[in-house]
Amino acid sequence: MSAVAERLGRLRRALAASDLDALLVSALPNIRYLTGFTGSNGLVLVTPGECLLLTDFRYATQVKGEVDPAVRTVIEGASLWQRLWKELQALPGTRVLAFETAHVTHQDAARFLDAASDGSRWLWRPAVNLVEVLRESKDDDEVARIREAVRIAEHALGATLPHVRAGMTELDVAARLEFELRSAGSEGFPFETIIAAGARSALPHARASRAVIAKGDLLLFDFGAVHAGYCSDITRTFVVGAAPDARQLEVHTAVREANGSASALVRAGMRGRDADALARDYIDRLGYGEAFGHSLGHGIGLEIHEAPRLSKTAESPLPAGAVVTIEPGIYLEGWGGVRIEDDVVLGSEGPEVLTTFQRDLLQL
Ligand code: ZN
Ligand code: ZN
Repeated sequence: MSAVAERLGRLRRALAASDLDALLVSALPNIRYLTGFTGSNGLVLVTPGECLLLTDFRYATQVKGEVDPAVRTVIEGASLWQRLWKELQALPGTRVLAFETAHVTHQDAARFLDAASDGSRWLWRPAVNLVEVLRESKDDDEVARIREAVRIAEHALGATLPHVRAGMTELDVAARLEFELRSAGSEGFPFETIIAAGARSALPHARASRAVIAKGDLLLFDFGAVHAGYCSDITRTFVVGAAPDARQLEVHTAVREANGSASALVRAGMRGRDADALARDYIDRLGYGEAFGHSLGHGIGLEIHEAPRLSKTAESPLPAGAVVTIEPGIYLEGWGGVRIEDDVVLGSEGPEVLTTFQRDLLQL
């Protein structure tokens, strides 16, 4: 059975358990997961007997190469929505349909809620994360893709570091890193590359800017690669042009210890909040609890941020097969910040840390 056929089987069981006759899938990562289609315009309808992909003429050739045989593809010349109504008319057993609440615009929701109000036989129900939940556990092929995305990212980082000097801007470093990522085979950048120097490293979501890197600055890299649609997400922090001072070493050591013990102790079956506590309790005990203001990590896969979450409020257990980040940080306003982020597979036998790039406070 193909991966797509297996995923459709799991989704159909979830639909049956929720008394739904069909799911309309409009989120592109979910469409890719369920069909193989990588284009930017499509709608998917999954019923007990069929998976239908509607897309437009631009993708007529592309779908032949990438859409799984378990899916029926329809190339529509005018409106995907009008075609959807026609296809639905031909499915008499389909009455209760769900749409993805997190991914439908109000404008699109109005189309089917209007279509339902004119006496049609369809009942639309909101569905929350039906496909996202299936995507949490990765199969071997998905893990292999993430592993390659990690390898590409680490290769690019290794190729970039020898070029970094005080006097360069954050953007100079980002340009080099992104060149190396592309050269090493990355299909794109899963998010805007973060290069943050000095006090700016205390901004957990800093963008690379024109700020000039000074001797002795902390320099934080947070970036990733994409391979066969799957993302990696890595953070390392270094010092530029000088040996680290005592405070830089102290903060960095605290983050590295928190990262190392959380990566070693995180387990499938643990609640997201208990995983978060693996690093947070340690950082709290050192007196830096207030300076670790974000959650410990998130799932990665077709999207850079996906389920499951490792946070103070995450009650659900982490499923076996999830690939998650472990990214504790300490951020001190006006001084700087340190974050170390690794990508970890939650295997049934225990965690496997995919990222291998060394975690010391290197002097560049
Ligand atoms: Zn990251
Ligand atoms: Zn991350």
